[in-house]
Amino acid sequence: MQKPKVEYGKMTRSKRGCITPKGYQKYQSKMVHRLIWERYHGAIPPGYFVHHKDGNKKNNTLDNLALVSKLTHKRLHSGCTLVNGVWFKLCKACGISKNTITDFYKIKNKGISTLCKQCYIKKVLERRNEKIS
Ligand SMILES: [Zn+2]
Ligand SMILES: [Zn+2]
Repeated sequence: MQKPKVEYGKMTRSKRGCITPKGYQKYQSKMVHRLIWERYHGAIPPGYFVHHKDGNKKNNTLDNLALVSKLTHKRLHSGCTLVNGVWFKLCKACGISKNTITDFYKIKNKGISTLCKQCYIKKVLERRNEKIS
């Protein structure tokens, strides 16, 4: 008799597997990507997340998974990339990836602005001009 084999990476839908509203795969009420990580690397420390490097939440191959802290995970999902130890973020206005420390404004309790400094200033000036005319 053959044992039922679960192919984590290829699973789409099975009796116990399902897809969460956020697009993650679950198996027996556990996140599949976390199960896979733990199988190879051991338990996930509290406060840590397993991230899909290519952004495809169904691509649960070990190569595509990375263990990251909560903050890093949040940054990765808000369009940031880590380059040589510095976080870069895509500006929503000009579409250029810029240094989060030098090219973005810090906003109290909210992290950093969605626009880079240049675009931010441009926007503020545009608004001011609209009010004057
Ligand atoms: Zn993630
Ligand atoms: Zn910009």
